[in-house]
Amino acid sequence: MSRVFNFSPGPSMLPEPVLRQAQQDMVEFGASGMSVMEMSHRGKDFMAIAAETEADLRELMGIPDSYKVLFLQGGATSQFAMVPINLLRGKTKACYVQTGLWSEKAIAEAKRFGEAVIAASSKNENYMSIPARSTWTVDPDAAYLHYTSNETIGGVEFPEIPDAGGLPLVCDMSSNILSRVIDVSRYALIYAGAQKNMGPAGITVVIVREDLLGQVLPHTPSLFDYRVQADQGSMVNTPPTYNWYLLGLVLQWIKSEGGVGHIEQRNIRKARKLYDAIDTSDFYSNPVDPEARSRMNVPFRLRDASLEKAFVQEAKQAGLVTLEGHRSVGGMRASIYNAMPEAGVDALIAFMSDFERRHG
Ligand code: PMP
Repeated sequence: MSRVFNFSPGPSMLPEPVLRQAQQDMVEFGASGMSVMEMSHRGKDFMAIAAETEADLRELMGIPDSYKVLFLQGGATSQFAMVPINLLRGKTKACYVQTGLWSEKAIAEAKRFGEAVIAASSKNENYMSIPARSTWTVDPDAAYLHYTSNETIGGVEFPEIPDAGGLPLVCDMSSNILSRVIDVSRYALIYAGAQKNMGPAGITVVIVREDLLGQVLPHTPSLFDYRVQADQGSMVNTPPTYNWYLLGLVLQWIKSEGGVGHIEQRNIRKARKLYDAIDTSDFYSNPVDPEARSRMNVPFRLRDASLEKAFVQEAKQAGLVTLEGHRSVGGMRASIYNAMPEAGVDALIAFMSDFERRHG
């Protein structure tokens, strides 16, 4: 058996060196005499893993000291609620930029706690572009402005950090965190589920400016209060220790690859090659505005949709798996996160060209 190139949108490929390290540590971690899964989260060994993971994330992303880094459970979906619960701070509304199905979900959840003002939306364009910043209406009375930096399903990514119009800027970075260099100080809060660029499912990172904490809605359970989590080192209850450790290994791998800047250059090359292959063929197509195309999730269609099944099957035989598009949109989608090697993208492009030659 050999490992395949897995184009899954998440949970997705992990770097092989991470899996090898985990395998090596599986039965006995260092000199501890036990696996990471069996350790007390408050013991010396796990506390060291937790601290190193946070320090590495701070280093890789350049997170200023005025921000807290939390390692939580419940996925990015729980953050759709925790953000308004924690950040409304006495206000009644928040602004949302609607660019796809994930921002739609964030908006639906926010509406449970207050008014979600749509500052801009590309819904009428079928989520194929990002509304020009000049067309946004940012409500100055809103508590924050939320956007989704990469829409995993539509394959739409903000090319740069938008101007928040004076509001605290909140970002769902689940599917492109650590894929490009960003200035954390432009944000009030960043959240991301780990299962695309950071590790396995089951752990969620929240990076939040400390001065925003401490004004949660009444009756908020303590687990959902960022202030309480920050004060207790994300250990209000037993954290997902093994996922935290694996996330740490992924960060070490990013460091060993030369850091986020280096990974970003590789991501640019990978995405450019794949879009070029799509654009230069009339057999494949991608509908997204070139300015807003995602480097992480590349949806594409076959000219003849009846060939989709054969495409997926033959690709699988070639060791290229999970290329089906999201059930809501159909077609194909290649997710090419940090851990997808350039060789995986090359193999996909070669397969696509061969498939076109045989079926085109
Ligand atoms: N936001 C984005 C952009 C996503 O891609 C996903 C998961 N695919 C989520 C939120 C939801 O994440 P989770 O399943 O971890 O709750």
